[in-house]
Amino acid sequence: YAKERGKDTYQIFSENMNTAYSERLKMEAQLRIALEKNQFFLHYQPQIDMKTNKIIGVEALVRWNNPELGIVAPNEFIPLAEEIGLIDPIGDWVLKTACQQVKNWQKELGLYIRVGINISPKQFQRPDFVSKVERVLQETGLAPNYVDLEITENGLMQNSADCLQTLYRLKSHGVKISIDDFGTGYSSLSYLKRFPIDTLKIDQSFVRDLIEDTNDQAIVTSIISLAHNMKLNVIAEGVETVEIVNFLNRHKCDEMQGYLYSKPLNPHDFESFLKKMKQ
Ligand code: C2E
Ligand code: MG
Ligand code: MG
Ligand code: MG
Repeated sequence: YAKERGKDTYQIFSENMNTAYSERLKMEAQLRIALEKNQFFLHYQPQIDMKTNKIIGVEALVRWNNPELGIVAPNEFIPLAEEIGLIDPIGDWVLKTACQQVKNWQKELGLYIRVGINISPKQFQRPDFVSKVERVLQETGLAPNYVDLEITENGLMQNSADCLQTLYRLKSHGVKISIDDFGTGYSSLSYLKRFPIDTLKIDQSFVRDLIEDTNDQAIVTSIISLAHNMKLNVIAEGVETVEIVNFLNRHKCDEMQGYLYSKPLNPHDFESFLKKMKQ
């Protein structure tokens, strides 16, 4: 009996494995053709200057319109894309599309805002990454100071010497660098003094419960002080309530981004949002 049962258990387990595996294979196959089928699109989330209360930038966030699954969030396919070597072409598309969009807003609306672009560690570590950025800037005609590359701490850790060189080359062009999800990576603070970065983005996990959690308050105020003492810009992610805005204001956070102000929007909705904000 035990033996039989053991066998059943094994079968169920193996069927689940098979389903998960074949689903992954399917997604992989669909992801491989997603670019040529034009299934990716970008949403833009406003970033607000807390002094002026104006939109100072947007963060470009990729989505995938999968024919069967509908809209797939980046956390569901970016890791897979990284694994199967698709992050470079997808990342190239994001970089080009975001720069093109922001350049269009400059031309058509006279709106001069920065664009934050998420760069995966694999992309950043490619020897030709800087020349790709140069090429996109040339092709789109967007001035480099409007481009803000968002890299995570882990992304900067992997090979320090190459990484430092890449950052200096980007800086020499005038491109901005942000540390995304600051405070959640496995890195020491020592890289902060060596790396030429512009902005710390406080991870939303520290912001979410800011009003109730005194530990989060300690962490957020310390990150703001750290940034300012190092002459860095600091932005809070995941701002969802007025109380959090007030807290960040009191502690002189420079910028904020979150659902309270706006969700990530498609270009058309972003333009309507601008009109509504009279900006
Ligand atoms: P991230 O760069 O930290 O982006 C912020 C995420 O927080 C976005 O999720 C955004 O929609 C969400 N968010 C913004 N405000 C709020 C808020 O008030 N509350 C809550 N709960 N969430 C908020 P999204 O778009 O699903 O992106 C998730 C992650 O996927 C990004 O985290 C980034 O790491 C990655 N990602 C997105 N687009 C790209 C891309 O083009 N390339 C790469 N390599 N990664 C990307
Ligand atoms: Mg980001
Ligand atoms: Mg983040
Ligand atoms: Mg994140």
